[in-house]
Amino acid sequence: MKKDIATPIRTKEILDKYGFSFKKSLGQNFLIDTNILKNIVHHSGINNDSGAIEIGPGIGALTEQIAKVAKKVVAFEIDQRLLPILKETLFDYDNISIIHKDILEADVSNVIEERFNEVNGIHVVANLPYYITTPIIMKLLSEKVPITTFTMMLQKEVAVRMAAKPGNKDYGSLSIAVQFYTEAEVVMTVPKTVFMPQPNVDSAVIHLVRREKPAVQVINENFFFEVTRASFAQRRKTILNNLTSQLLNGKEKKEEILKCLDKCSINPTRRGETLSIEEFGRLSNELYPNFT
Ligand code: SAM
Repeated sequence: MKKDIATPIRTKEILDKYGFSFKKSLGQNFLIDTNILKNIVHHSGINNDSGAIEIGPGIGALTEQIAKVAKKVVAFEIDQRLLPILKETLFDYDNISIIHKDILEADVSNVIEERFNEVNGIHVVANLPYYITTPIIMKLLSEKVPITTFTMMLQKEVAVRMAAKPGNKDYGSLSIAVQFYTEAEVVMTVPKTVFMPQPNVDSAVIHLVRREKPAVQVINENFFFEVTRASFAQRRKTILNNLTSQLLNGKEKKEEILKCLDKCSINPTRRGETLSIEEFGRLSNELYPNFT
């Protein structure tokens, strides 16, 4: 049995052999702790019937742990220099395919259709550059790609914001955007010391389980998100002030906005952070005819 990739010694051996240098622009902080990786796979809910999509396999540390559990793994890696390395490190696994592609340009639905017809449940797992993790999650969720769960490493504050509940200082439009489509939970916090090189920020792993249908039924999703963003534009302002100042022609439509708030039994002096997703859904449905 080969040694796990994710130990400081083995990782260094692999990097030295290929003369690999980290690219900061691609967020290359590799995990060097097998227990953390096993824990991520454990929280992902992957089993031997599952299809797994990994984004950014690096030298294959997480890929290897996923492949031990999943039926099939497809991993997207942008950095060409890693392809020969992955070929060697993952040689023993016949259930992994690597696709050399920027995930932001990949047709994930098509890949799922072509490669995952014999699996039960599709799980995305990733330790990616933090600045693209949220856009990728939102892209895959809003495009309704048939993914069952996401288990992603993130900057700790962002993970906490994604999972925050109403009334909490971290609750905002990101929490609502994520929880509209999924049930979100922070499942692990991860110290800097388990990365090579060590990042500057603390990390956490978020686990998102896609809802069968969105948390609330809305007439127009884009408008719903516009209303939530508007409501948090200035956190200290009331919902009424934020909506009148942020929505198109909101000032002229103050009376209509007040009527809609009243119809939804939402006191206009409340702040956005006190409203539940259901309240935002009802409010955006009431407001919608006034803003189209
Ligand atoms: N999964 C490995 C691990 O945990 O050790 C590597 C993680 S490293 C933080 C991020 C990886 O994502 C790198 O291998 C990087 O080249 C890759 N990557 C960065 N941007 C990407 C993109 N847009 N599409 C696909 N892969 C990307």
